[in-house]
Amino acid sequence: MAAACAQAARDPDTVRIVAASKMQPPAMLSAAIAAGLDSFGENRVQEAKAKWPALKAAHPWVKLHLIGPLQSNKVKEAVALFDAIDSVDRAKIARRLAAEMAAQDRVLPCLIQVNTGAEPQKAGVTLADLPELIELCRDALDLPLRGLMCIPPAEADPAYHFALLAKLAARHDLPVLSMGMSGDFETAIAMGATEIRPGSVLFGPRDSADPPA
Ligand SMILES: *Cc1c(COP(=O)(O)O)cnc(C)c1O
Repeated sequence: MAAACAQAARDPDTVRIVAASKMQPPAMLSAAIAAGLDSFGENRVQEAKAKWPALKAAHPWVKLHLIGPLQSNKVKEAVALFDAIDSVDRAKIARRLAAEMAAQDRVLPCLIQVNTGAEPQKAGVTLADLPELIELCRDALDLPLRGLMCIPPAEADPAYHFALLAKLAARHDLPVLSMGMSGDFETAIAMGATEIRPGSVLFGPRDSADPPA
């Protein structure tokens, strides 16, 4: 990451590591916190609920991001447990999140996940629906919307998708860009990522299959 920042002439303090910790056991997460990581991303509310309450109690400065798709029946638990929602992808979830944050008196910064590759199996709002969802989040719901997130198609050149996401964020005046995983975080940093989500490059390979994105 330091090398990628130097290459891109960027201050490393402007790029946050949100360590993608799905499938990693609590002992690995404790070790990662001891090594200095302070932001983690989990894909599933249920898995996070099993692993994180004890870790967060012991390390209250740690920030937990939801980086996987959110079902409306899990919004209440998600707002109670997470510190940021990086995967808002539709109006219904945005509305539930706004209502639940008000009910719990909690403020979780949100990102909208954009399906930049228009992949039917992948979460994220389409390019066509993005402006309307941004407007809903900001103007109607007053959600703390901070930026955009994407996962490029596996076979695609990630630079194209990162550049697109950066352009969209700039157009809508959104400062946070969550993009880049183990295989492409250097490219993401070069294209302006403010948050990267490496997993296996930090923790080693996961032994089970990935949950759906
Ligand atoms: C698993 C995952 C990552 C990390 O993937 P790696 O290839 O292990 O770095 C990043 N973002 C999301 C949304 C993920 O699901």
